[in-house]
Amino acid sequence: MLRALVIILAVVSVFDAHQAARVPAQSATSDIGSQLLQEPSVRSALDRLKRSEPSLLDEQIRLCEIPAPPFKETRRADALRQSFQSLGLKNVHIDRAGNVLGERAGTGAAPHLVFSAHLDTVFGEEVAIRMTRAGAVLKGPGISDDCRGLAVLLGVVRALDEAQIQTPGPITFVGTVGEEGLGDLRGVKELFNGELKGRIDRFVSVDGAGLGITHIGVGSLRYRVTFKGAGGHSYGDFGLANPIHALGRAVARIADIQVPALPKTTFNVGRIGGGTSVNAIASEAWMEVDLRSSDGAALATLDASLQRALDEALKAENDRWGNRGRLTMSKTTVGNRPAGRVSADSPIVQSAVSVTRALGLPVSLDEGSTDSNLAMSLGIPAITIDGGGTATGTHSIDEAFDSTNSWQGTARAFLVTLALSR
Ligand SMILES: [Zn+2]
Repeated sequence: MLRALVIILAVVSVFDAHQAARVPAQSATSDIGSQLLQEPSVRSALDRLKRSEPSLLDEQIRLCEIPAPPFKETRRADALRQSFQSLGLKNVHIDRAGNVLGERAGTGAAPHLVFSAHLDTVFGEEVAIRMTRAGAVLKGPGISDDCRGLAVLLGVVRALDEAQIQTPGPITFVGTVGEEGLGDLRGVKELFNGELKGRIDRFVSVDGAGLGITHIGVGSLRYRVTFKGAGGHSYGDFGLANPIHALGRAVARIADIQVPALPKTTFNVGRIGGGTSVNAIASEAWMEVDLRSSDGAALATLDASLQRALDEALKAENDRWGNRGRLTMSKTTVGNRPAGRVSADSPIVQSAVSVTRALGLPVSLDEGSTDSNLAMSLGIPAITIDGGGTATGTHSIDEAFDSTNSWQGTARAFLVTLALSR
């Protein structure tokens, strides 16, 4: 027991080394869940929270009926800002990137917890955003990912207030923009580099349905690669370097790149295009490439292999035709999500595990690509937790959220907030 305790403390001190000056080390994380459940104010808050889950589901639908396409989250952001204000959060505002922030003071200045969910969806403006409900199942684009997270955020603020709980550290609640796809984490990038730079001690994102705890952030790099040349007639101009042939050479080389099975590292040419006619040498060909890994170094190695494959393909096509109609190649980075991880033994993960167990729920430690990636890559303790319930059809227009026992997700998020703000 003592030895276990020493190990936990050692992990705590290493983990919080960068902020040792102002943040009290998290202690006794392994039984924080059962400790919290012994506090009468916490128990009554949980009771109330379970009773008010139906109205939380109403809010989930209300927020989700406001479209929030990539880069166009303004209307939903405005609705969340109003909710934050009516819940009595302080200094409620929208930052330069479009994130919505609201503060709840602590009895002290640390630890500063940021508790967030993302506003944006993968759906463009052309997708009709309509929510329906059949029994326990809510249906509509984004209803789980991440209207559930936004609703849980509001549920946690309300539970803290109704139970009149004063946390030792302050909490900033945030609705972030740009989590999905080409949004490229621009919301959290602004959050960690803008007004809260150097002031975030712990970060939690509530994202989607389920009960998992994500502590490994899968990094990704995405490129759009374009080959360009003179173009011409397929017969009359035969002998010119061909952008589509160069693209083919590149894809063949990429397909042969060797990657480790662990840490899981993947590549994909997801889209290709170019050319105008079967009897024309194209003047342009392009592709979009996605690279991923749960390990930053492995991602960098894969990236180097990709660059080599592209350069070799370009040279091979130009050499083939003695540089006639010499091709050029341009590469644009269209996504860069850093990889990161927090150890399963770390206080932030162990706190989340402890409260999950205390509620009698199954523990599942996961990897994923979420807003927490950025915090993890900066060495800031961070996790992404699921918001309860179960999802089907995530990122599709048939997305659904089964709210059976979804109050458990709200309860778990509430306890995680308490555990991490002390
Ligand atoms: Zn999400």
